[in-house]
Amino acid sequence: MKQLDCIMRLSNKFARLPGVGAKTAQRYAYSIIDMPCADVEDFCAALKDVKNSVRYCAECGNFTDKEVCEICARRDKSIICVVAYPKDVLALERVSGYRGVYHVLHGTLSPLEGRGPDSLKIKELLARLEGAEEVILATNTDVEGEATAMYLARLIKPMGVKVSRIAQGISIGSELEYADEVTLTRALEKRTPL
Ligand SMILES: [Zn+2]
Repeated sequence: MKQLDCIMRLSNKFARLPGVGAKTAQRYAYSIIDMPCADVEDFCAALKDVKNSVRYCAECGNFTDKEVCEICARRDKSIICVVAYPKDVLALERVSGYRGVYHVLHGTLSPLEGRGPDSLKIKELLARLEGAEEVILATNTDVEGEATAMYLARLIKPMGVKVSRIAQGISIGSELEYADEVTLTRALEKRTPL
């Protein structure tokens, strides 16, 4: 039997989500058919709500529902921890001792995939350095994360700001997102000056 067009349409939407293949997308679509109407409406409302209310913080680039996020509004701006993605901020916020702010680059440098410095929020970072005492480079310890950190260190050090790199307690190639609290705390505490 040919698949109904509306189910196909929904499957195709789900298949556009990261990590969702065609089979899973189809399973998701079928599960919506079996869902009570109220749940489906709730689901639609949640999607719209996220799209309408979440934006990037004007200072750090993290997700927020305000002009400036809670972290930028309250914390010590003399220490800026630079990460690649908003999910890394979530991970590092599990480290209880950190009192500084963040800066989200929204990616890493990757010449192979055509991502140069202009595609990242680097200009925005440089604009925040006045009054900063330390910049902690907390991009992942994989090849692209390292290259990005080294690029930023070369750029920032001549500006007279202390630059450090998270310790390699997280094994090479691993991601902040999956590191446990103890590992992250150690990586931050044992950061090394560059
Ligand atoms: Zn912010």
